[in-house]
Amino acid sequence: MAKAKNLLLCILAAILSVGCAESEQYVNLETTGVNSTGTEEDITIPQTTVEGGPQSESSAYEPEAISGYDDSKNNGSKQLTQNSRYIYTYLQRVDIINHSYSTFCSIVGCDHMNGGCEVKLRRSGLRCYENGVYYLHDDQICYRDYMGNISVIYTNTYSNEYTEKNDPETDNPDSGISPTSIYGMIFADEHTLLVNGRNFFFLYDLNTGEATAPIEVYQSGISSYCLLDGKVYSSNDNAEVYSTDLAGTESVRVLEQGRNIQAYDGRLWYSKWTEGICSLYSNNTDFTDETEELYDIWPSFEVCDAGLLYLTPDYEQIKLYTWDGEDKTLVNLQEVEYQGGKEGYEYSKLGFVEYTLIDDTLYFNVLYNGVGYSSYDYENPYVWYSVRDGVMTEFTEE
Ligand SMILES: [Zn+2]
Repeated sequence: MAKAKNLLLCILAAILSVGCAESEQYVNLETTGVNSTGTEEDITIPQTTVEGGPQSESSAYEPEAISGYDDSKNNGSKQLTQNSRYIYTYLQRVDIINHSYSTFCSIVGCDHMNGGCEVKLRRSGLRCYENGVYYLHDDQICYRDYMGNISVIYTNTYSNEYTEKNDPETDNPDSGISPTSIYGMIFADEHTLLVNGRNFFFLYDLNTGEATAPIEVYQSGISSYCLLDGKVYSSNDNAEVYSTDLAGTESVRVLEQGRNIQAYDGRLWYSKWTEGICSLYSNNTDFTDETEELYDIWPSFEVCDAGLLYLTPDYEQIKLYTWDGEDKTLVNLQEVEYQGGKEGYEYSKLGFVEYTLIDDTLYFNVLYNGVGYSSYDYENPYVWYSVRDGVMTEFTEE
């Protein structure tokens, strides 16, 4: 059981980009969570990201323009992106109005099994904006509108001393990316993207199309980061926290230990390990008010619109709590009224693959067959549910 628990912990941590991995010379997509649900198979990347070129003329689902952008509460570790209608993951689009989900691919006739499928592009850093979604792919910032038309808006040309001397393809053919590749981003404001690579950040202005010079924050890799009051706070592979002023050039170490750093309610939130127990802490931006907020939680927690989501480390019954800073609420999935679908499904033993809270409604997915966590089964995709006021609803596949 301990082994199973550790495995689950590791998988959850990997999925939620907390990172079980030790410091690595190269970015490992599987452990940074950038493409944590991708498959292991070789993927032929099609040349579909042609500038301005249409991906398809129509869509497998009803396209609909939605305006607004997802600031993801300025937390770089957030895997989901959402607007008022949809939640997007790297693989799926979830319609929170119609309670349905589909594979996030609009290629007509695609069975989502072949190399040309959109979900096999290994998109990362998805962020909703206006009528579509920004994402990173093949060292480029791309924009996909709601009709499925894809444009390349920026190509990363950053290189440093290391990449000039080494060939990443040869050194690490499995990853296919170099230490100067970009693979994550959030919105710094509604027209500026904060883009990150292994150990650097830069800003990209959507209005002018200009990028700032990359700022390398430290030698080791970025594990998590957030933006608060104009500064980037990041936790590295050694769990040290640094503060970086994007207008300046230097990074300052502000904490010896802090993992999965996120901004919420004007404070910084992070987890720390003490004698094998992981607890959640908050602090001010002067780092003079460290407060233990929650004791003994899973190392992953998530800041969402409606508060914090966290799990307790009980493999037999994984509990999900929401917390608004004062009151914590247990979302006990064994006690909610279940509306339709597969009877007897043991949610509490499965954990969640991806989850978020929007307007007091919890949305989460689990694998259909409940077997395995790390790979996406195209025949049995993640099934989505919502829980609101003690009622669970299973979404239908479009
Ligand atoms: Zn497809």
